[in-house]
Amino acid sequence: MRVDVVTIFPEYLDPLRAALLGKAIDRGLISVGVHDLRDWTHDVHKAVDDSPYGGGPGMVMKPQVWGAALDAVCTEATRLVVPTPAGRPFTQAMARELAGEEHLVFACGRYEGIDQRVVDDASRRVRVDEVSIGDYVLVGGEVAVLVVVEAVARLLPGVLGNPRSAAEDSFSDGLLEGPSYTRPEVWRELAVPEVLRSGNHRLIDRWRRDQALRRTWDRRPELVEALPEDALDKHDREL
Ligand code: SAM
Repeated sequence: MRVDVVTIFPEYLDPLRAALLGKAIDRGLISVGVHDLRDWTHDVHKAVDDSPYGGGPGMVMKPQVWGAALDAVCTEATRLVVPTPAGRPFTQAMARELAGEEHLVFACGRYEGIDQRVVDDASRRVRVDEVSIGDYVLVGGEVAVLVVVEAVARLLPGVLGNPRSAAEDSFSDGLLEGPSYTRPEVWRELAVPEVLRSGNHRLIDRWRRDQALRRTWDRRPELVEALPEDALDKHDREL
């Protein structure tokens, strides 16, 4: 997969090259380009923003600069992701969808955001998603890009050491994952649940399923309610 990010703060994206993602880059599973939006300005001040039509506080990012940048970076195969608090909520299902793409381009807004015509224009040539990573407002799109790219990259074949990790994580079956434990058996007088030490994998699977269901019901009941009719077995329903 190829990922290109356009931003006015390229250094903000340095973590893309760290840890697991860095290894995926080294192994050729993903390639990343980070581009400075100001490279597409033509004035001495390298201005990327201007005051908003209709008045109001803050500045809006200029369409001419963004248009030139996206014309240069996007191809026919591109799926353009524009982070914005006004976007569709980013979910694990969307991460899975994006993981199937060959080229993702991210446009990082700052200030009050990007002139809407940039998205409208790009939509005439490529697939565009305006995406929110949560119901809060960040200063810029860079952190949102780190979140989305990390969630997507770990789903690419070969990126995680054990592919079962992604398959069994929270949201893969619509539920939150239950609690995990490692050695020692007792720590600060807190013991690991007996069943996990039983060696009985049928019981362990059942226990994990129960924990996941209980935790999801307590913390995110709307996820349980959104499960398809046939997702819960008889035992699940009795919980
Ligand atoms: N005026 C915008 C609004 O009220 O919707 C907020 C703009 S915000 C200060 C600047 C930039 O941060 C946005 O253009 C976007 O790139 C990014 N951003 C902020 N919050 C975000 C969120 N929850 N999800 C994704 N991107 C976000």
